[in-house]
Amino acid sequence: MIIRNVRILGGEPVDIRVADGVIAEIGPGLEGPETVDGGGAIALPGLVDLHTHLREPGREDAETVQTGTQSAARGGYTAVHAMANTSPVADTAGVVEQVWRLGREFAHCDVHPVGAVTVGLEGKQLAELGAMADSAARVRVFSDDGKCVDDAVLMRRALEYVKAFDGVIAQHAQEPRLTAGAQMNEGVISGRLGLTGWPAVAEEAIIARDCLLAAHVGSRLHVCHVSTAGSVEIIRWAKSKGWNVTCEVTPHHLLLTDDLVEESPVGAYNPIYKVNPPLRTRADVEALRAALADGTIDIVATDHAPHPVEDKETEWSAAAMGMVGLETALSVVQEAMVETGLLDWAGVAQRMSVVPARIGRLGGQGQPLEAGAPANITLYDPSARTEVDPSAFASKSRNTPYEGMTLPGRVVATFLRGRATVLEGKLV
Ligand SMILES: [Zn+2]
Repeated sequence: MIIRNVRILGGEPVDIRVADGVIAEIGPGLEGPETVDGGGAIALPGLVDLHTHLREPGREDAETVQTGTQSAARGGYTAVHAMANTSPVADTAGVVEQVWRLGREFAHCDVHPVGAVTVGLEGKQLAELGAMADSAARVRVFSDDGKCVDDAVLMRRALEYVKAFDGVIAQHAQEPRLTAGAQMNEGVISGRLGLTGWPAVAEEAIIARDCLLAAHVGSRLHVCHVSTAGSVEIIRWAKSKGWNVTCEVTPHHLLLTDDLVEESPVGAYNPIYKVNPPLRTRADVEALRAALADGTIDIVATDHAPHPVEDKETEWSAAAMGMVGLETALSVVQEAMVETGLLDWAGVAQRMSVVPARIGRLGGQGQPLEAGAPANITLYDPSARTEVDPSAFASKSRNTPYEGMTLPGRVVATFLRGRATVLEGKLV
C-alpha cells in the first residue's frame, strides 16, 4: 500500500510505502496497486497515551475497551495505557491480563494495562507488582491514579520494587488531607463561589517528596497531570539534579482556567469543568505551556475520563470529576502550543508519541517515521476547523468541556501497523 502526498512532521510532501505492517520506503513518486491519498496532511508517528481510563471492567456504561480504543483511534492514537481504577481494580496479574486480552480482541489501538500500586487502591499494602510485570500484559507502568500513594514508606517500597523490571510509578500527586472535600482550585474564585478549595500546595508537596524519594532509591518516577506553576518549578529542580523524573500535562490544563466555574458559555457551576486535579489559573496555564515547550514537562497525556450523563449532569458537589479527551487532544495541543508558536510538529510528535512510548517502555510504538519502523501513522490536517460535536464521538461518554467550540485541525487517518483504523476521519 502507498500512502501518497503526506508531509512527515510538516516537511516536504512524500509518499510512504507500507508492507507487512512496516514502513518499507519513503520518497516522492512511489507507485503501487493500492493507494491512500493523504491530501498533503501532516504525518506523525501514531500517538501514544500514557493516561487513559477505559472503565472496563466494571463501568461499561461509561466506556468499554472497544469504545475507548475507537475513541483513541479517532484521536490519532495507536496505543493507550489503561488506568487501574476499574472494578475490580487492576491489582493482580489476572485483571491486567483480562484488560490486555480485551485490547487484543478489539484492536482499534494497542492497550497496555497500568497496574495498581496498592491492593484495591487503598494505599495500605503493595499490590503484586512483580506478577503483573511478568504476566502476558508485561506491565511497566504502575499507578493508583484517582488516588495518591500518600504513605511515604509504601511509596518508597514501590519505587524500589519496580527497579527490578525497569518499571515506573506514576503518581497522582495530591496530599489527601489537604484536599478533603475539595471542589475546585483554591483561589479568588473558590472564595467567591463558596466552594471548598484545592490548594496548589497539596500537589506540590507530594511531588517534592516523591522526587526526593525517587532520587534516594535511584528509581523512576512519573508525575501524572501536573497542574500548577509551582509543580513545574519543583520538577525543573529535580531534573537539574539529574534525577529520573518525568511528568505529563493534560490538554485541558493547557487551555482552560478556573474562572470557567464562575462564568462560561454553559453557565456557572457547570460540572463539565469539574476535574481532578482542578482547572487552575491563567498564570498556571502559562507556566505549563512554557514547561511543555522547554521539556520540563515531558509529555501530553489525556486523562480521558468518561462518565455517563447522570454522573455529570447533576449539582456541582455531587458530580463526578473528569473529562473525555482522546478525540480532541491533538486539536487542543495545536490550539495551545502550535498556534502560539511554542511547539512545531516535530515537538508535538516527541511529546505525544515518542516520549510517552519510551516512558511506558513500548518497543513497537513511538518510532520515527522512517524505513523499517512499524507503520503506526497518524495523518492530521491542521488547516481544518471543526466545531466539537460530542454526539459524533466514538466514546460512549460525552463529557467534553469543548462542546460547541471551534478547534483547529482534524485527524484524517490512523494506521496501526499498516492497517487503517480511521480513514477520512471515520472509523474503519
Ligand atoms: Zn489522576
